[in-house]
Amino acid sequence: MKIDSEFSKTIREIREKSLEDRSHTRKVVHWVEDHRLLSGPGKAIVFILPTRGCSWALSKSGGCSICGYIYDNPQESDYDIMLKTYKEKLHESIKEGEIYSLKLFTSGSFLDASEIPEDIQKRILEEASQFKEILEIVLESRPEYVTKKALDTIAESTDISKVEVAIGLESANNDILMKSINKGFFWEDFEKAKSRITGAGARVKAYLLFKPPFVSEYNSIQDIIQSVSKLNEVGVDTISINAISIHRGTYLSILFEKNHYRTPWLWSLLHICREIKSSYPKLRLICDIVAAGTQRGAHNCGNCDKQIIDALKKFTLSQNLEDISEDFVCSCKTEWKSYLFEEKVTLS
Ligand code: SF4
Ligand SMILES: [Zn+2]
Repeated sequence: MKIDSEFSKTIREIREKSLEDRSHTRKVVHWVEDHRLLSGPGKAIVFILPTRGCSWALSKSGGCSICGYIYDNPQESDYDIMLKTYKEKLHESIKEGEIYSLKLFTSGSFLDASEIPEDIQKRILEEASQFKEILEIVLESRPEYVTKKALDTIAESTDISKVEVAIGLESANNDILMKSINKGFFWEDFEKAKSRITGAGARVKAYLLFKPPFVSEYNSIQDIIQSVSKLNEVGVDTISINAISIHRGTYLSILFEKNHYRTPWLWSLLHICREIKSSYPKLRLICDIVAAGTQRGAHNCGNCDKQIIDALKKFTLSQNLEDISEDFVCSCKTEWKSYLFEEKVTLS
């Protein structure tokens, strides 16, 4: 069993209520931002494609305890409009002389045919392959959709060596996956998907989640470091540490509203990035902090937040440890240290 039935039932009840006021917008969200490519600094063109949403979140399992992306997905997709807008925006975004990573996100799984049918996946990738400026293509998927057939479709549509499949592993610890996140898969499923992807000639990126529910800040620091070590052993070369932010309509948002959960400290993220980058200098390490500096995202005391967020952003782009090695000083650092200890004791 990869789910805890009581936990999953509670998540489903919360989900069902919130799904009632789900969005109907079919807008293709798109932007261009600075990005660190494997070959150096460049730009990322990001698309959020409006699909029906993550099948795991829509299933009887209730989905992940921390995720509310499903509320922004339309209930039905219009693939003609999606494709037309995607092509227009892609052509507008590419500038000569720049290099790009194209990120094709759905707030679910790109390789899930019930979100994007195979022929549409193909047409999206074929369009991208016309541009020599696009050096990397990033797709997100749960491991169960990473099948031989899905990988063959990618290989028929584009140069698969440019493709990186990003998997929201969250943690390499099966207990955390089941009892804290309700992820519905285990480390072993990730490992199998990873082998299929690299066997087909594509690359793998793993997302790790910092501070899921019921895991203390201190234990989550340890978990991230242990998870990175396992990922390094199996040969994953890009890891994104995603600090939790509170999504509405989730199990976690209820804990947060009852004051039973504090979003992570920026000091912890700084510590994690320093530890990992000094142990694995060749690893591409991304630190992604949504709602940074607010109560619903990773934050410190308010006085020192900006300088730490800026340093982490700079580090993500440069991959240079020096960008986060400054000895930042603030009185809340002592508070963070005692919090690490006290929260661990309370939760245990
Ligand atoms: S975190 Fe990913 S797998 Fe989990 S419900 Fe959200 S989109 Fe689906
Ligand atoms: Zn501070």
